[in-house]
Amino acid sequence: MNILITGGAGFIGSALISFLLDNTNHNIINLDKLTYAGNHTPLDKYLDDSRYSFEKVDICNKSALNLIFEKYLPDAVMHLAAESHVDRSIHGPEDFIQTNIIGTFNLLEIARSYWESLTPAKKLNFRFHHISTDEVFGDLPNSKDFFTEKTPYAPSSPYSASKASSDHLVRAWFRTYSLPIIITNCSNNYGPRQFPEKLIPLVITNAINGKSIPIYGDGSQIRDWLYVEDHAEALYLVLKNSNPGETYNIGGRNEKTNLYVVQTICNILERLYPEKPKGLSKYSDLICFVDDRSGHDVRYAIDCSKIEKDFGWAPLETFESGMLKTVKWYIDNFGNLSNKVKTEVLS
Ligand code: NAD
Repeated sequence: MNILITGGAGFIGSALISFLLDNTNHNIINLDKLTYAGNHTPLDKYLDDSRYSFEKVDICNKSALNLIFEKYLPDAVMHLAAESHVDRSIHGPEDFIQTNIIGTFNLLEIARSYWESLTPAKKLNFRFHHISTDEVFGDLPNSKDFFTEKTPYAPSSPYSASKASSDHLVRAWFRTYSLPIIITNCSNNYGPRQFPEKLIPLVITNAINGKSIPIYGDGSQIRDWLYVEDHAEALYLVLKNSNPGETYNIGGRNEKTNLYVVQTICNILERLYPEKPKGLSKYSDLICFVDDRSGHDVRYAIDCSKIEKDFGWAPLETFESGMLKTVKWYIDNFGNLSNKVKTEVLS
């Protein structure tokens, strides 16, 4: 099968491509614009593999997208390309509208006309898998509630609103044109190689460098955390087994407050990286509380019983084992991150 993956040089996309190349026989085409968040380095080792191709393309460029479909004749699309950082969406929403909404619209239109040209057998098996987030469901202040596949959309930030828009477009292309789509909505991912503007890599890299660790508000916001390789496996299971038009929630059943996450990282660093920057007695002394993000949702929590029941999926990593691997990776690799990342982190 030829699988076209958009955003494959990002955090989740690169884990997904590694998983597919290491565990399946599929041909992978990675289409990525290489924005500040894209980094091809972790995938460089596959460049000599005849099953892997990389194309630097913007999903907002319709004619370039068309050429990719003509050249590679995909059997499936896994669409991850997006602007993904909530804080950036608050300070500059336009790129989020362009990539997440217009880019997804372009991809749907090109995929639809390509799909309509396929033979009946190929048409039947084609899938357009849209990778989305639990943030489209908005806030869950009641501690007993969980997001299910039927929870109404109520996005709070420009990021989540742009992802919600793209989810609606994808669903409409199924209902109106019968394009065989699948949508997955996943909770917060963590793991190696995440760009250090997101909470977990920011905390680790700041701590290692003796820089302050900012926490929004009082740190009581709750997120559900999933190790990125567990997400990659879940995505492939859904792609292989799901019927067209289905939605699956994916989560780690790991609800943690932001403060707990930060304290866990500090505790792991005390053990794994005791050689602290000069004058620092403990990593947690770097924690400082800053004004809360506007529109900040209090709690997200996923009910992932549908994917567990339908496909027998369960994450391999616990929060403790996944965090240990993640912190260790940043300690081992921090010196090898690309210069643009280093500049951003150290500035
Ligand atoms: P990321 O920001 O690390 O990577 C995004 C990738 O998309 C980058 O490689 C970037 O270069 C590429 N890209 C951006 N704009 C593009 C464009 N116009 N054309 C082509 N490529 C473009 O994001 P991520 O964390 O890997 O997230 C991937 C997907 O998963 C996103 O759709 C996101 O909404 C979704 N998601 C993320 C999380 C999470 O916790 N990170 C959770 C659930 C869902």
